[in-house]
Amino acid sequence: LENVNVAVANPYDVIIDNDLIKNAGHHLEDLVQQRKVMIVTDENVASYGYLGTLQEAISPITTDVNTITLPAGEAQKSSANYIRLQEELATLNYSRSDVLIALGGGVIGDLVGFTAATYLRGIPYIQIPTTLLSAIDSSVGGKTAIDLPQGKNLVGAFYQPARVLCDLTTFHTLSQSIFEDGCAELIKYGMILDSDLLNNLMTRDQPLNALSEDLAAVVKRCVEIKRSVVLEDELDLGLRQLLNFGHTIGHAIEQVSHYKVSHGRGVATGMILTQLMAEKEGLTALSLADRFNNLLNQYHLLDQVHVSKEHTFEDILAAMTNDKKRRGGEITEIFPESFGKCELKTITFDQYAGWLETIFT
Ligand code: NAD
Ligand code: ZN
Repeated sequence: LENVNVAVANPYDVIIDNDLIKNAGHHLEDLVQQRKVMIVTDENVASYGYLGTLQEAISPITTDVNTITLPAGEAQKSSANYIRLQEELATLNYSRSDVLIALGGGVIGDLVGFTAATYLRGIPYIQIPTTLLSAIDSSVGGKTAIDLPQGKNLVGAFYQPARVLCDLTTFHTLSQSIFEDGCAELIKYGMILDSDLLNNLMTRDQPLNALSEDLAAVVKRCVEIKRSVVLEDELDLGLRQLLNFGHTIGHAIEQVSHYKVSHGRGVATGMILTQLMAEKEGLTALSLADRFNNLLNQYHLLDQVHVSKEHTFEDILAAMTNDKKRRGGEITEIFPESFGKCELKTITFDQYAGWLETIFT
């Protein structure tokens, strides 16, 4: 017996600071110098000037820069855009020593990441997340995807970026509502693994915002949690599934609303409904719900979604049957046990549907 251990790992840095885009020439020099660089962004992000600032910042280190500016919104995470980007790269003769930059929120990050994962079987890409949600969650960890009409994130790959620049300055132009979407993932991190983070959020004088003094520390904490989970379970076979707290129902709500409900709001509603299921089934301490509800309400995360009125239980269940996390006739769901602690539980889909139905009635 011969054994060859193929330990593949590509460590990368996540840099968190103000003015990173302005100083991208310095922060990306080793990755970008003398390369072709394709920057992909969306119209909002470009309109706030971040694209121009980035182009200017890297102009001393590379002259070969192409840009693609897509409209904003979840609909852009499409197979049509995926093919468009691939063809653009091929037309411009991009090689594996060139680089892509995703400048924007999770939509741009997921689309560009998946493009990078598959063009020439993989070309390096850099994440420059410009929303709180993408900074603390989607830009780190290497999950990339596009949506199909049949469901969200159905086609994708695990493919890690070469670097992540979380430029906190970009949060200044986020609307309150988009900032709050990020807070849904923040609360998720607290709920699954970090009661200190949750306490911090519950005991603040003012809700977290783009000007909070400890914003960098909070973002760093989330990235650390994500890092530790991904290091243990890059391919989402066990522990990493905790990060899907609220997401099974959340994705279904997003899909049923034709993405009018944002990812953050969908997840927040998913978290509270899962919490209610856990309570009804005796999986959690009863006292959790009020405080959890209050916290989500502080960030207006439950304002826009009135699940029982707008979407029937049947709609949501139908959307969930396409969920890729469902294996065979079973589903693994993440149930809160206490603040800072969630548990994975695999149950039959029929049982899950039954539990869900009881909280709709
Ligand atoms: P998004 O990319 O649609 O951005 C939200 C809105 O903010 C858009 O209109 C965008 O144009 C605008 N915007 C972005 N940066 C801005 C800025 N600095 N100032 C003003 N406006 C700005 O959405 P998102 O909430 O960032 O990400 C959601 C997506 O991320 C979903 O598709 C979700 O599935 C995905 N996601 C992926 C992972 C992962 O691990 N890959 C994790 C969580 C979420
Ligand atoms: Zn999410």
